[in-house]
Amino acid sequence: MSRVYNFSAGPSMLPLEVLETAAKEMCEFGATGQSVMEMSHRSKEYDAIIKETEANLREIMNIPENYEVLFLQGGASSQFAMVPLNLMNKSGKADFVVTGQWANKAYKEAARYGEAKVVASSADKTYSYIPKLDKATFTPDADYFHICMNNTIYGTRFTELPDTGNVPLVADISSCILSEPIDVSKFGVLYAGAQKNLAPAGLTIVIIRKDLIGNAKDITPTMFNYATHADNGSMFNTPPCYTIYVAGLVLKWIKKLGGLPKIKEINEKKAKILYDFLDNSKMFKGTVEKADRSLMNVPFVTGNEELDAKFVAEAKKAGFVNLKGHRSVGGMRASIYNAMPVEGVEKLVEFMANFEKENG
Ligand SMILES: *Cc1c(COP(=O)(O)O)cnc(C)c1O
Repeated sequence: MSRVYNFSAGPSMLPLEVLETAAKEMCEFGATGQSVMEMSHRSKEYDAIIKETEANLREIMNIPENYEVLFLQGGASSQFAMVPLNLMNKSGKADFVVTGQWANKAYKEAARYGEAKVVASSADKTYSYIPKLDKATFTPDADYFHICMNNTIYGTRFTELPDTGNVPLVADISSCILSEPIDVSKFGVLYAGAQKNLAPAGLTIVIIRKDLIGNAKDITPTMFNYATHADNGSMFNTPPCYTIYVAGLVLKWIKKLGGLPKIKEINEKKAKILYDFLDNSKMFKGTVEKADRSLMNVPFVTGNEELDAKFVAEAKKAGFVNLKGHRSVGGMRASIYNAMPVEGVEKLVEFMANFEKENG
């Protein structure tokens, strides 16, 4: 087997152990004589899988009882509409911190359904920092306050949560879910597409405080109403069965490693290796404000587009793939999600040091 180190921002690496278990169980799951892909989602066997997956997610993330966990489809992008349709129901207002393209999409979509306000933005410096927030600018009667916790494209993250008082805080955690412990009780809604840090594409996780369910706007499509899914245990229609099963395997892998405190320790170690190298390199430079650096997505540049392209091409040949940066930032981006082993980052840094020596 010759697996590459895949630094893709998403879909991204899955733990090898998980892939091997899935492969072993591919044609015959347990004593069922069938693949999980072929099972009725209403079968006793599948019910055990989805229940165990939810129980493990609740345990690992320490999700309080008054929160519902929903297994949906449509990606994080559907949540940009689903959140306002379900939550913009009192004042019809919501606040947004625009820290990148995803945050901006959440804002623009909400603006179609109510009064959406940008309370702060870092667009002036290509989203290379998390803006300081002034509580006086927050809308006191907003129905929710939205942030994108980790900015996948730009490589920044919130390390401090805005104090929104009684206004429910809603966060897109697509690229940082399960990367470190998070206090769920501080949020009204958390949502994430699974394909960055949890499972293959096709599954969207929504963690929502129960009192925020049940007041959707009248125009809300049935499938976009949280109540539809909460009332039916995420089985109103066919859920993304196989992806939920793989998410379950990933959650077991996290538990075995020692849960989120341990995962955080490993992620901090990986990020430090890469950032320390960038801070000491004469060729490569990180692109974001140090205090706001993401643990998951690390953009960097040489300052020379031709050299960037040469680096990406040579890295690929050496087995380090998907290092090309997002088109809006240029340069490189190494996404180092949970499944990226420490060794992958160590080897990448070694490769970068050699490249610097040869091309400096
Ligand atoms: C990838 C990503 C999205 C888009 O997710 P889809 O599941 O493709 O809709 C939204 N927000 C963030 C932070 C992301 O990283």
